[in-house]
Amino acid sequence: MTYAQKVLADVKAKNPNEPEFIQAVTEVLVSLEPVLKARPKYEKAGILERLVEPERVIIFRVPWTDDAGRPRVNRGYRVQYNSAIGPYKGGLRFDSTVNLSVLKFLGFEQVFKNSLTTLPMGGGKGGSDFNPKGCSDAEVMRFCQSFMTELYRHIGADTDVPAGDMNVGGREIGYLFGQYKRIVNEWTGVLTGKGLSFGGSLIRPEATGYGDVYFAENMLATKKDSLEGKVCAISGSGNVAQYAAEKLVQLGARPVTFSDRSGWIYVKDGMDQAFIDEVKELKQVKRGELADFAKGRKGVEFRAEGRPWAVPVDCAFPCARQNELDGKDADALLKNGCKLVGEGANMPSTLEAVDKFVKAKILYSPGKASNAGGVATSGLEMSQNSERLSWSAAEVDAKLKGIMKAIHDNAYEAAKEFGKKGNYVVGANIAGFVKVADAMVAQGCV
Ligand code: NAP
Repeated sequence: MTYAQKVLADVKAKNPNEPEFIQAVTEVLVSLEPVLKARPKYEKAGILERLVEPERVIIFRVPWTDDAGRPRVNRGYRVQYNSAIGPYKGGLRFDSTVNLSVLKFLGFEQVFKNSLTTLPMGGGKGGSDFNPKGCSDAEVMRFCQSFMTELYRHIGADTDVPAGDMNVGGREIGYLFGQYKRIVNEWTGVLTGKGLSFGGSLIRPEATGYGDVYFAENMLATKKDSLEGKVCAISGSGNVAQYAAEKLVQLGARPVTFSDRSGWIYVKDGMDQAFIDEVKELKQVKRGELADFAKGRKGVEFRAEGRPWAVPVDCAFPCARQNELDGKDADALLKNGCKLVGEGANMPSTLEAVDKFVKAKILYSPGKASNAGGVATSGLEMSQNSERLSWSAAEVDAKLKGIMKAIHDNAYEAAKEFGKKGNYVVGANIAGFVKVADAMVAQGCV
């Protein structure tokens, strides 16, 4: 048994009820084999055993009252995964599917992702099994205030800086920030994804989707190709999906699908900016469903069954949730001629699907590399808050572009160095790992 296999077996034995966490650890540890073999110092320092265990997990009760005056209780979490290279940093997810396995997988991924951004940020993740959908604004505010009333004692601008994730957008971050400031009586950049009027950064809402597409551009450039004229499937219709579609249109590509919990839409002739703006309004303001949105619209087909991976496309951008693209979906994409998969969501492809993409040697980027633009721009928001300055949209976008190119090039070069040229899974995992592991070696057994 190799060192990675031993640690993986231990993780499986210790966390039998955490399938998402085991999946994420498996993907990473298996791909680290070449670097672990070449550098035995990591085994000697017990890096993997320490890396798979979160530094701290906080679980708390979140009591709040609904509009009818009834008491409600949700469970709140913060997983402070690894602080070797900087304060814990990672989003908050509010969704009924949130549990410890999901947050540990997300926190673990975040450690490598943040390292890849080249910025000094450790990894963390948090959230609650609360779903804001169907709640009034006042209910969401009361929930956020109660959540922060416990969370505030565990976070801080130099300790842990949460941001948004699924169902946590500008509205929720605003309420959370207001309550933090009220409790500690201090204005600091303790959360990112803030509104522009109170310390937010231009381009932060766009950053994950834009960054995903910039990463795809960089992959295509290695084949002397571009996004111009490419037909693209996108899943999800939330933050990441909307801005991935917007950037694709700007670069001359043709996005043809979006999805949500009600089903998915196929716009065969491609979406334009006006169409994407209507989807933004649907999701950010009206908080509605694609099923209703599609009704009576010319050129828009709605399908309640299946997923967007069934239509013929050149590129696919999974931007909704974990495990939304399985082995069968991968077969369908490959059969239809798909040549690039750029993950915007975290771990959207199952291990089986990843394996098929890697074997087919298409351009495939794991989320921890291609969706790192969001957290990178959160890092830029932290810098602006510390400087008490705001940078222009053009300035932030240029930095984002530069960071996505650096992430791409680091992953590409690491894969090449370890004999796996073109394999971005191996490249991203090794490049992200080495920086964190070296910091942990230097800091001793803590
Ligand atoms: P979001 O704005 O809440 O959008 C999520 C989208 O996924 C929505 O369209 C949602 O549909 C859809 N969805 C969720 N569960 C689904 C299910 N079971 N079946 C079908 N569709 C489903 O979230 P987001 O910020 O775009 O995040 C999307 C993904 O990107 C997540 O994996 C997140 O961790 C990752 N990510 C986000 C960021 C960021 O900056 N936001 C950064 C890095 C990674 P409904 O509209 O019906 O809810």
